[in-house]
Amino acid sequence: MIGTPVNEGIAIAKPFIFRKEAISITEEKSSSYEQEQEKLYDAIDKAREQITSLKELAAEKMGKENIFDAHLSILEDPMLIDMLDKALKDGLPAAAAVDRAKKELTAIFEKIPDPYIKARIADIDDITERLIRIILGKPKEDLALIDQPVVLIARDLTPSETIGLNENVKGIITETGSATSHAAILAKALGLPAVVGEEGIIDKAKDADLVILDTIDDNIIFNPTQQELEIYTVKQAKYEDERKRLMLYAGREAITKDGKKIKVYANIGSLEEWQVAQKYGAEGIGLFRTEFLYMQNDHFPTEDEQFEVYKEITQQGGEEIILRILDIGGDKNLPYYDFPKEMNPFLGNRAVRFLLKNPDVFKAQLKAALRAAVYGNLKIMYPMISSIEELHEANKILQQCKDELKQNGIAYKESMEVGIMVEIPSAAIMADVLARYVDFFSIGTNDLCQYTLAVDRTNALVKELYKPHEPAILRLIRHVTKAGADFEVPVGVCGEMAGEPIYTKWLIGAGVTELSMSAASIPRIKEIIINTTYDECKELVAKTNSLFNANDIENELKESAIC
Ligand code: PEP
Ligand code: MG
Repeated sequence: MIGTPVNEGIAIAKPFIFRKEAISITEEKSSSYEQEQEKLYDAIDKAREQITSLKELAAEKMGKENIFDAHLSILEDPMLIDMLDKALKDGLPAAAAVDRAKKELTAIFEKIPDPYIKARIADIDDITERLIRIILGKPKEDLALIDQPVVLIARDLTPSETIGLNENVKGIITETGSATSHAAILAKALGLPAVVGEEGIIDKAKDADLVILDTIDDNIIFNPTQQELEIYTVKQAKYEDERKRLMLYAGREAITKDGKKIKVYANIGSLEEWQVAQKYGAEGIGLFRTEFLYMQNDHFPTEDEQFEVYKEITQQGGEEIILRILDIGGDKNLPYYDFPKEMNPFLGNRAVRFLLKNPDVFKAQLKAALRAAVYGNLKIMYPMISSIEELHEANKILQQCKDELKQNGIAYKESMEVGIMVEIPSAAIMADVLARYVDFFSIGTNDLCQYTLAVDRTNALVKELYKPHEPAILRLIRHVTKAGADFEVPVGVCGEMAGEPIYTKWLIGAGVTELSMSAASIPRIKEIIINTTYDECKELVAKTNSLFNANDIENELKESAIC
């Protein structure tokens, strides 16, 4: 195995290759008008069936009216049907007719200034691609429709593609990506064994009927022998026993032997994830990635729509709910918003930068959060703060929201706490200044590592350089915790480092008081906390302070995780 394992476990199942290869309509041969018309109508029927199934599956997560309604109505649109018929009459074969109709329909929609209507272009793309693939016999794979246990194998998985994953997916292998890419984070949230950056895996999986994915000892075996199958079935059972043992820690409070209490929270993207997180012993929500709410929709969710979701999560969430304001851009796009192409999207119009340029979107979310905070301990944090000005700008808009809610007599929580993600090196360096204006810090080590080391977190080619234990990162974290201590601002960590056993004692020793992670990691992290002392953690930090080589530091940290 050459890739990076992102979650321990063993999956034994059929490989399911999620193909996204380009299609070319030039391969298509034309026959008679009648035959092409029949092909097209068959394809429309099949597409309708697929979308209806997707709509039903999505109903639970996205509500009865969801993105697939728009797809169905486009499919039935008389204008589209007319365009298709005309193209067939002009002698085009079925797929080429769909392609022409798509271009004509898109041209019409592009002229309409209403951004909501314009956003339907993404739906037209989706529907017409589905139709063309059916006609050419290269059907679109819908992950939500997987109906038997599989190990999912793909070149890559975008966050929006992973929305439809269901419980039949037992493991994930992707050719690209690294441990902190969003596909990997999602695999962790679902508690699935996964490997990212496994170049060439699609080719290897092509003719296989069964695959064993072992992310404990880093093995991938296609078409295992009977003996291998027996060995891994036993190993899987043993691993499940170990999981059961760790689960005994889930319900315990995370207090060191000398009485230091650490908050152990979950990172979630939806209410369902919070329900799972509680089983693993999450006491609160340290990072609610709200972007999934936006990505599952077919429009920017309105203030009221968001209020309902945040209110429910606030009422059901644990002792604290930290809602992260929309972090869109980078590798996270929206199907209904046309992001201009950027050379370096991770360095571009992302998160708070996008929000400050789109105050309506920002305000709808802030108001929804202010209103929901009335129902419990909901706090917000701004993503990707890079300077004091940005924080002031964001707070100015927050104040406007409060003023407007007050004027309209709408209940909201005036004292809602406001923190920031510390995930850009400039914010970490300026932590002693930023600390004067925030209620808490949450260190986003995924991005902090990417931006400090100039290592793309999604790029498998440089994955060996992505080391959160580089002394530069540890220094920045210590700088933030020192600023936090000086100004009595609590410091949490919500990047993947928080759920990695080798970092637990170090982070506690450095002064971090809250660790927020993928739910499945919680029992193991609690085990480490319960079996250590705060003094031991501080000694570890003192020891690593004099080490300047990442490998030496890693060895110390690895040893610290043995318990
Ligand atoms: C981070 O950057 O560490 C973080 C938690 O945010 P995200 O992974 O969503 O970018
Ligand atoms: Mg981040």
